Amino acid sequence: MISSKASVPNLVRQSQLFGTTLREAPRGEESINARLLEQGAFIRKHMAGAYSYLPLGLRVLRKIETIIREEMNAVDGQEVLMPALQPKELWDKTGRWEGLKPVMYQFLDHSEKHVGLGVTHEEVIAELARQFVKSYKDLPVALYQIQTKFRHEARPKSGLNRGREFSMKDLYSLHTSEDDMNAYYERVKTAYLNVFTRCGLDAKIVEASGGDFTKEYSHEFQVLTEAGEDHIFYCPNCTFAQNKEIAKVKEGNPCPNNPEDRIQISRAIEVGNIFKLGTKYSDGIGAHFVNEEGKKMPIIMASYGIGVSRLIGTIVEVHNDEKGIRWPLSVAPFDFHVVQLGNTPEINSATETLITLLLNAGKTVLYDDRNASAGEKLNDSDLLGIPYRLLVSAKTGDKVEVKKRDEKDSQLLSPQDILHTLSGEKG
Ligand code: ATP
Ligand code: MG
Repeated sequence: MISSKASVPNLVRQSQLFGTTLREAPRGEESINARLLEQGAFIRKHMAGAYSYLPLGLRVLRKIETIIREEMNAVDGQEVLMPALQPKELWDKTGRWEGLKPVMYQFLDHSEKHVGLGVTHEEVIAELARQFVKSYKDLPVALYQIQTKFRHEARPKSGLNRGREFSMKDLYSLHTSEDDMNAYYERVKTAYLNVFTRCGLDAKIVEASGGDFTKEYSHEFQVLTEAGEDHIFYCPNCTFAQNKEIAKVKEGNPCPNNPEDRIQISRAIEVGNIFKLGTKYSDGIGAHFVNEEGKKMPIIMASYGIGVSRLIGTIVEVHNDEKGIRWPLSVAPFDFHVVQLGNTPEINSATETLITLLLNAGKTVLYDDRNASAGEKLNDSDLLGIPYRLLVSAKTGDKVEVKKRDEKDSQLLSPQDILHTLSGEKG
């Protein structure tokens, strides 16, 4: 069978896959995402809020990262990577070191120097801007990274949705004027909605606290689900939505945009948050540019975060049933799960033909070649939640039983017809 060099293998044999599924959900996990992801051996917990990504989970993470990179590059973001380990002096310049004590991991290193693990990177970005941005000609510029953040969360009980160590995509934009920042901020809103839609999530833009700039709101991207820790008041018929933290409405109130509509409440997961920062950080760090009149001015900033690992947790919370996960194709660890039952030369050769065809078409395949019972294999297949299950057995002959994870019914197709039949579907 084809095996080629690729950044992720296109074909993985389940007998070789590191990590075995658990018969039952692990004890000590309350959230659906952690229960299913650990049961399926996507991730493993080491302590509250700290997880390993096993090969299956890492494939999902990488796919989400790719979607995010594409959308960030499309809004002219340049990728950088900043350190987690940061000196206290930098945070003292903006006065945040003391206030962040409850949430930031801060310690004395071996040379008695105060350091902290970054909870966010406004200070580091402003420092880079101070060093590299000289004149208005250097602006605007947008820098982003996908990086590990550390936060001492009080009670991390939501699996990947609340890590003490977690992956965030953070983007920072630097501007000469408020107007320029406002225009770019709107572009990022659209890019964020693209990211969430491509991940199979329907996110609402919600007004929330935390915009430092002239006391404006920040905007959160919230996915409505019972599994969320936030509460959102929203209008079902327009875009009005506010986080309960700051809301000026209550459930059942008339919508401020159209009094005939009534405000509803829902729990929600915050998958992203964007902020107009103004000059707060550039003032503190001393990040300036020289304008067209030759005058020194503070750089105007905005910042934009997406919870990359939280997206995995959110997708699982939204896309699951009693049997397991149901990955959207765009983020699934593999496109196809080829499940072989029986081990005769005929069955082996039918499987080989099928897999070769899929790989030649550029598809990714998890191949269940294990010596296990049919029940075990089918249960695992439902648990892992790969969008298409292709069953090859003595019963299927030269055909293949095709079943979508999202649907009850299956159909018998010849290998050649599978791609053709499925190609009309959304990818
Ligand atoms: P929350 O209110 O849920 O604690 P936050 O408002 O403190 O989140 P931000 O500082 O806005 O988080 O961070 C940007 C994004 O990073 C959030 O929108 C969220 O998606 C993600 N995020 C924040 N904290 C965590 C965490 N502990 N684990 C996983 N993702 C997180
Ligand atoms: Mg937030």
